[in-house]
Amino acid sequence: MARDTEVLVLGGGSTGCGVARDLARRGLEVTLLERGNLTHGTTGRMHGLLHSGARYAISDQASARECIEENRVLREIAGHCVEETGGLFVKRPEDSADYFEEKLRGCRDCGIPARVRSGREAREIEPFLAPDIDRALEVPDAAIDPFRLCVANARDAEAHGARIETHAEVVDVLREGDDVHGVEVRHESGPGKRVHRRSGSTETITAEYVVNATGAWAGQLAGMADLEVAVRPSKGAMTITNVRQVDTVINRCRPKGDADIVVPHETTAILGTTDVEVDDPDDYPEERWEVDLLIDRLAELLPILREARTIRSFWGVRPLYEPPGRGTEDPTDITREFFLLDHRERDGVTGMASIVGGKVTTYRAMAETVADHVCAELGVRASCSTADEPLPGSEELEAAMDDFGLRSPIARRSRQRLGSRTRDVLETDEPNPVLCDCEGVTRAEVRDAIAQSGTDLNAVRIRTRASMGNCQGGFCCHAIANELHPAHDEPVVRAALDELLKERWRGERHALWGDQLSQAMLNYALHATTLNRDRDPARTGESIDYGAFDRGQTGDGAGAFVGEKTTDGGDR
Ligand SMILES: Cc1cc2nc3c(=O)[nH]c(=O)nc-3n(C[C@H](O)[C@H](O)[C@H](O)COP(=O)(O)OP(=O)(O)OC[C@H]3O[C@@H](n4cnc5c(N)ncnc54)[C@H](O)[C@@H]3O)c2cc1C
Repeated sequence: MARDTEVLVLGGGSTGCGVARDLARRGLEVTLLERGNLTHGTTGRMHGLLHSGARYAISDQASARECIEENRVLREIAGHCVEETGGLFVKRPEDSADYFEEKLRGCRDCGIPARVRSGREAREIEPFLAPDIDRALEVPDAAIDPFRLCVANARDAEAHGARIETHAEVVDVLREGDDVHGVEVRHESGPGKRVHRRSGSTETITAEYVVNATGAWAGQLAGMADLEVAVRPSKGAMTITNVRQVDTVINRCRPKGDADIVVPHETTAILGTTDVEVDDPDDYPEERWEVDLLIDRLAELLPILREARTIRSFWGVRPLYEPPGRGTEDPTDITREFFLLDHRERDGVTGMASIVGGKVTTYRAMAETVADHVCAELGVRASCSTADEPLPGSEELEAAMDDFGLRSPIARRSRQRLGSRTRDVLETDEPNPVLCDCEGVTRAEVRDAIAQSGTDLNAVRIRTRASMGNCQGGFCCHAIANELHPAHDEPVVRAALDELLKERWRGERHALWGDQLSQAMLNYALHATTLNRDRDPARTGESIDYGAFDRGQTGDGAGAFVGEKTTDGGDR
């Protein structure tokens, strides 16, 4: 029977985007379905560490070897998504010296380059390290941008003929007897690029093969085909500071435990994390103790964090999986390896496989394993090219670029984000002002992202970083939304703006003290009052006492400074 597509890939995280790219490059017809944005799930809620493998060099050596191998591959093929920060595993006086030595041996066993540094040498690399850090191991950890990575994979898949559908939720997996042959999808706003306020529709898509790459949700998707996949979702909290206190990934060198890593990420640093098993990956408590713990414990390594301004906190859910029979109690002990579950072999059901576990660092290897399997099932002879072919944006990265009339720090940051696409995106005859000051994002970059993703401004955000800096969108969200006009009318633009601000608020609400509270109040005043986004009807018929401005008085209400001068030269 003719099918709509050869392979359906469910899930638009790093794994699904990697699988779609690999299969499309092998010449298969691929459709990827993602219920939110690309990176809507765990991939958009992780630490941003490109593991060297050192973290697992004692406890999980199979994962450690996978990590160092893929770390080397991704530096080559995804250069515009990777920042070569290097990493330090630092030891405090109370941390075990034996463990430090064991870590060093483990790294050597797994082929991870590791060099011992004294405390003084470590502080020469990172001056804010605590004065009592006595030793450190230097390893090739790096920072990776998961958003850029996924988008680049999806773009390459599209360039090789794949259909990428975001905001397309799989609501049923079609199974007849012992064969899976497609899915039922609910589009949030109709097939194709997202447009706010367009009514939804459903679609049946049949396929030769279905790949379940829905991470922590893999059990739910498998359940739609009456299959059981026992994922063990485990939540982790992360907090973001407004500047990078370190330029190197800092890990604490001790057996295991919460709050032991700081990853520099673009203009910020990400503190993490916790590890608590949860029942439902969509519904779990985001707890204050987790945020407090991150700051308190990590300040033992970097005392400056006690005074840091945190701009938001967020949580992600690990898609952990254990083969039956292991029964590990503590989620931190569950392996970080990945597993391909072939439902034909495992359950006698043809046409579907699930991929679970793993990490962003190993996404490409996971995708290659899945694609090899799918090709074998469909009788396709084609080999993998993803380890050698750079992602869009990472080709000829070293080529010199002009500055496009932008002040140099902005041009530098744009180039870092866009890689070899810089010229295509920034070369424009139109004025190209900076729309997001915190992250230095220009109109040309925003327009390029809108062309890719329609009216979804969170999709623009993950492509550009616009609204992800200090002000958390307070000063730029409306300017970004304005770029949707005149192609879209006012209600569509408003809906898109609301959604972006709502998403920014989600993480910001966990950081409401000190400077970030002032920022949030300022954002509120700007949006509710100046932009009248709360649609408070203007009061009419009241006369305004203009003289009050000149007198510099603020009235006698609560918190007012009656009689004080509030402006320079107020008594004119
Ligand atoms: C706190 C934390 C920190 C981490 N830090 C790191 C790190 O520093 N480095 C690293 O390498 N790894 C890290 N990881 C692990 C890594 O983030 C994950 O292993 C990886 O992102 C999983 O990717 P995925 O594509 O398999 O799953 P996901 O990214 O979750 O993708 C699955 C997708 O399926 C979609 N989906 C679900 N249901 C449906 C449906 N019905 N229809 C359509 N789509 C659906 C979801 O929306 C989601 O986007 C971390 C994880 C956590 C939780």
